[in-house]
Amino acid sequence: MYDPILLAEQTEALVIHGRARRYYRLARGGRWYGGIATADCCGCPLRCSFCWSGKPRDNPDRVGKFYQPEEVFRALSSCARKKGYRQLRLSGNEPTLGKEHLLAVLGLVDESHYHFILETSGILIDEEYARELAGFRNLHVRVSLKGTNPQEFSLLTGALPEVFSLQLTALRNLTEAGVSCHPAVMLSFSPKDSFRALKDELNKISPHLTDEIEEEYIFLYPHVEGRLIKSGLKPLIAYSPDGIPKELV
Ligand code: SF4
Repeated sequence: MYDPILLAEQTEALVIHGRARRYYRLARGGRWYGGIATADCCGCPLRCSFCWSGKPRDNPDRVGKFYQPEEVFRALSSCARKKGYRQLRLSGNEPTLGKEHLLAVLGLVDESHYHFILETSGILIDEEYARELAGFRNLHVRVSLKGTNPQEFSLLTGALPEVFSLQLTALRNLTEAGVSCHPAVMLSFSPKDSFRALKDELNKISPHLTDEIEEEYIFLYPHVEGRLIKSGLKPLIAYSPDGIPKELV
């Protein structure tokens, strides 16, 4: 079992260089959120068994190259302009690694008419990080919970179970700092009563989190299926990539 906070430090050493961050793709369009321009970064402090990122997650220093925040924003906004999108995001791995880089990208987004969706596991969002994110008006944070409780979190990520609480703490910190946010939760492996218990926990932080909870399920891309077979995990609910229900896009 690994400590994601330690892995975050080790990964940052590989993918962050001053204000620059390593990316493996700048930038692509996508149908998610009704259309969004996406830049794919390298490096994540988690090892989810349903992850679709391969080499950029496991060998982040051997793929892609470093880009300054200005280059990332330029690529994102150019992609969005061509496709007629209003939204931008960083994806592929964990965008909150390299805080200085992320905050600089968000600063550029804030000077534009674009809206930024920050997709994160939240484990690095402490009180100070949340207060800094509160300075951006064009930002919404989606915290993706890996399961519904510490045991599921550990089963799905292979990480120390207590780190699950950092995901809930991130939602608390963001809510208290006044950052627009909502939780998404991977439910492919969760019995219904665990989901109910999670909703109670979220409700204690703020009722808006329960109201806005987003359900996430596994999409069975070939390499995701490979990882699941290797881990021995069997999803209760999963979808093939060409059979994703409209409400999950
Ligand atoms: S947090 Fe996302 S990128 Fe990181 S291992 Fe999990 S699914 Fe992959």
